[in-house]
Amino acid sequence: MSELIAKKTAEAINWHARALALSVEGRAFIGGEYCSSASGQTFATINPATRQALAEVADCGELDVNRAVMAARAAFDDGRWADLAPVVRKTIMLRFAALIREHSEELALLETLDTGKPISDSLAVDIAGSAYCIQWYAEVIDKVGGEVAPLASNLVGMVTREPLGVVAAVVPWNFPLLMASWKIAPALAAGNSVILKPSEKSPLTAIRIAALAQAAGLPDGVLQVLPGAGATGRMLAEHPDVDCIAFTGSTAVGKCIMQAAAQSNLKRVWLELGGKSPNIILADCPDIAGAASAAAGGVFYNQGEMCSAGSRVLVQREIYPQFIAALQAAAMAYTPGDPLDPATRMGAIVDQIQYDKVLAYIAAGKVEAEHLGGGDVVMGETGLFITPAIFNTAANTTIAREEIFGPVCSVIVFDTFDEAIQIANNSEYGLAAAVWTSNLTTAHTMAKKLRAGTVWINCYDEGGDMNLPFGGYKQSGNGRDKSLHALEKYTELKSTLIKLS
Ligand code: NAP
Ligand code: MG
Repeated sequence: MSELIAKKTAEAINWHARALALSVEGRAFIGGEYCSSASGQTFATINPATRQALAEVADCGELDVNRAVMAARAAFDDGRWADLAPVVRKTIMLRFAALIREHSEELALLETLDTGKPISDSLAVDIAGSAYCIQWYAEVIDKVGGEVAPLASNLVGMVTREPLGVVAAVVPWNFPLLMASWKIAPALAAGNSVILKPSEKSPLTAIRIAALAQAAGLPDGVLQVLPGAGATGRMLAEHPDVDCIAFTGSTAVGKCIMQAAAQSNLKRVWLELGGKSPNIILADCPDIAGAASAAAGGVFYNQGEMCSAGSRVLVQREIYPQFIAALQAAAMAYTPGDPLDPATRMGAIVDQIQYDKVLAYIAAGKVEAEHLGGGDVVMGETGLFITPAIFNTAANTTIAREEIFGPVCSVIVFDTFDEAIQIANNSEYGLAAAVWTSNLTTAHTMAKKLRAGTVWINCYDEGGDMNLPFGGYKQSGNGRDKSLHALEKYTELKSTLIKLS
């Protein structure tokens, strides 16, 4: 869905009335059916815009994890999915994508209520992007084949890719369905069985799409959804019968997952972790107002809860006054509002823990840096809303080094090309970076020198296209989501050699 159509659709709907009428599923999905957790335990998921509970959700423990792994293993072993003809699997996944589109208003509403993000964004980005991702990998299923190796004439060597088996996908709360789709779509396309563990802060869309996958014809046991806390994810990471864990989340938890994999069965581990991405604005930037507007979007979109947030804005000294004025003006567009109002561009922070963490960073910023405005609590009696904060800071402060995952922008002034590269690369992270310049040589040279998985030139976070791999250098993780490369994560490579004579 184009953003314009999504906006028009969003405007035409009375979302508050829809929210009142919404029925919410909170149970796990194992072996083709919704079920409560074995212990009967639940937790409440909250709407951060109102602080009200939305639903009780199954808190899956060890028995549920074991049952889900067994169901996934059985489905993989009997080949009910992997052994279907590629064109059949493609058709089922295309139907799955179509059903997500058909239910996009319901899913967008669930996503907005659960996370606090603006409804227009849920519709145009989260849900539309999820359907597109699943469609994209569906289309790949009957297009990508193996290789025949160039060997001696009496030998035939085939190089083929086979599914890994049982894949666990553990995902975060900032783009719940989209991050889930980036994992489950290539994993299913490759023929695996999948167990999806959404964040306890935002489990509702993941739970809902299990039924849509089943309605599309995905055989029972091929997709499980296990809501629960971090412990549920840990049990999957430790499980001896899970073949691969694909994780998006914090660097700290990513390290725990790698350790759990090492200590259990050496399951494959793919990590998409945090970031503190530099957005470098050179004095020869082609359009200062445009760059400032993109920089504001780069750090304030989705309440700043983005792994790819351009939270370090590096500005060359000559243009600092102009740029800051333009950035402050652009930040005004992100004044928080009711997430169910289609005109809102900044919603609520996902929960009290994250809200307190962001406010603590803002307080630290006021001590260690020059506060240029924002970072205020608004509508505090209603929900968890913070206005976009801008600081002018040295490169070594806490707010300029640590991932905040909230609407806080650290502006750092630099003088030379080399200084900009040095500051940009001086981070434990390496997820993304951007450069704004009119000079082709500067653009290419910087792009090469920046230690990041994605470099944008004269734009920020133009990431919607599935053809571009996404992931990090250094402690931002390993492996890549999106693109054909993601299929490699969910397959083993097999060499088959036949001797003819
Ligand atoms: P998180 O705390 O690391 O949680 C991520 C997921 O892991 C959640 O489902 C969480 O469950 C689960 N989990 C928690 N502890 C676990 C453990 N010991 N073992 C296994 N699983 C565990 O991260 P988050 O706060 O949800 O998300 C924010 C982070 O994600 C940021 O650092 C951000 O940069 C990163 N992120 C990265 C990308 C990317 O593509 N690189 C994209 C989006 C977000 P509960 O939530 O239920 O505790
Ligand atoms: Mg919630």
